[in-house]
Amino acid sequence: MTKEYDVVVIGSGPAGYHAAIRCGQLGLRTACIEKWQSRDDKTVYGGTCLNVGCIPSKALLDTSHKYVEALHEFETHGIKVPAVSIDVPAMMGRKDEVVKQLTTGIAGLLSSNKVEAISGKGKVTTPETVLVTDHEGKEQELKAKHIIIAAGSVPIEIPPTPVDQNTIVDSTGALEFDEVPKRLGVIGAGVIGLELGSVWARLGADVVVLEAVEEFLPTVDRQIAKEAAKIFAKQGLQIKLGARVTGSKLSAGRAKKSVTVEYQDGDGEQRATFDKLIVAVGRKPYTRDLLDPSLGIELDARGFIRVDDKCATSVPSIYACGDVVRGPMLAHKGMEEGIMVAERLAGKKAQVNYDLVPSVIYTHPEIAWVGKNEEELKMAGVEYNVGAFPFAASGRALAANDSEGMVKIIADAATDRILGCHIIGPSAADLMQQVVIAMEFSASAEDLGLTMFSHPTLSEAVHEAALASLGHAIHIGNRKRRA
Ligand code: FAD
Ligand code: AMP
Repeated sequence: MTKEYDVVVIGSGPAGYHAAIRCGQLGLRTACIEKWQSRDDKTVYGGTCLNVGCIPSKALLDTSHKYVEALHEFETHGIKVPAVSIDVPAMMGRKDEVVKQLTTGIAGLLSSNKVEAISGKGKVTTPETVLVTDHEGKEQELKAKHIIIAAGSVPIEIPPTPVDQNTIVDSTGALEFDEVPKRLGVIGAGVIGLELGSVWARLGADVVVLEAVEEFLPTVDRQIAKEAAKIFAKQGLQIKLGARVTGSKLSAGRAKKSVTVEYQDGDGEQRATFDKLIVAVGRKPYTRDLLDPSLGIELDARGFIRVDDKCATSVPSIYACGDVVRGPMLAHKGMEEGIMVAERLAGKKAQVNYDLVPSVIYTHPEIAWVGKNEEELKMAGVEYNVGAFPFAASGRALAANDSEGMVKIIADAATDRILGCHIIGPSAADLMQQVVIAMEFSASAEDLGLTMFSHPTLSEAVHEAALASLGHAIHIGNRKRRA
């Protein structure tokens, strides 16, 4: 029997479950299809983010950071701990529990918002039909007035380093090591490579990151990227820039395996041997067996489903959002798109502000930014004021013994409207979010300067950076910088 809905959503990652829940809240009869299965063959909701992305990586980052604190920093606070060691299976068990709690929570939220969760792989066969094949091969047809595709993305593999999820792993395998590798190679100094490399470096691995591009974090504000490179080097992360991996060879024999990686840098052909190798060279949209060719849904050159700024595809009844469409592959970008699509299907006006998508690298210190950086503004010929405030001058950061980094605020020289915020430092992501809100309301640096901030907080660094851009920060010398 064919079931009928107002909306069928394919995928229950951040984009899909936000779309489905909001559709349910708005009274649309909604189904959400998910193919992901746990090791014990149960359907799990939440997609990459909850299962093998944002959440498990942050669980391991948090554990490994606490380990580093116990090992090196407690003593500074006068706390004596006799011996510190890491129990990797216990760390993984905790991470798995966090994931389980959250993925189960999504199933509950779908149900309480009257979304029918359907297990299986969905394929769009006509503009109003989705064929679902469950894990036993049983098929059912769903009819919908609208279809929202939120099928997400998968890791990119490169021919020189075929992933076996044992010695050569992708980001998913890197969340599952059963012990700390002695020598760890990471290909790619992007967000995922730096976060996963940091986890294992903190736990004692000798980590080498091989990055093809000569510039470190090319999309990040140069001053912040330079500061980050210095701090990571101090932490023992060896980042080799301009090092393009060209081949690899697994060691023979059944004993503990290793992999020898060949790469090319400015000095020619190089080799390095690792016990584990993480391939973190980016992600690609996942559209395998998803769209019947007769639909004529357009993909772009990189395989993303082509959509407009309202996430409409080339077929009027079909929308797509999240990692499967253009734009940064970030959970919150997909969430906002999912909500926008749901609201528009319910007849509401909604849009996403693509100028204010915040980015974060959850290393320690964190790196977070939103809006334009100095390089982009220079290229665009925009005149701006910039104010920077170092955490070394923040009472709260010093009290916490966590005072590396700075907050930078950039404002338009003519109007004082805030154009960007760039932070490296403790809780950078949460601090930057305050500026995202300010920017959403078109605030000026003066608006931030006139706002009262609680003392002593890390947030005061945001206040002082805004004041510095106006030339009157209190806790640092003012050298007003205008460009
Ligand atoms: P996904 O989360 O990939 O979900 C897509 C879902 O669709 C999956 O569950 C999949 O099984 C299902 N699906 C696909 N095809 C079908 C089909 N045909 N039928 C049924 N179901 C289907 N982003 C951040 O913002 N912050 C972070 O800190 C962060 N950390 C990350 C760390 C790692 C290690 C990784 C890998 C990613 C991280 N990301 C982070 C990125 C983030 O996970 C993605 O941007 C986000 O999950 C994309 O959401 P999505 O809903 O578009 O797709
Ligand atoms: P991101 O897309 O931010 O996850 O980053 C992936 C990184 O991997 C990019 O900075 C790429 O330059 C890098 N990369 C891709 N292929 C290779 C390769 N063969 N060797 C080294 N680095 C690579």
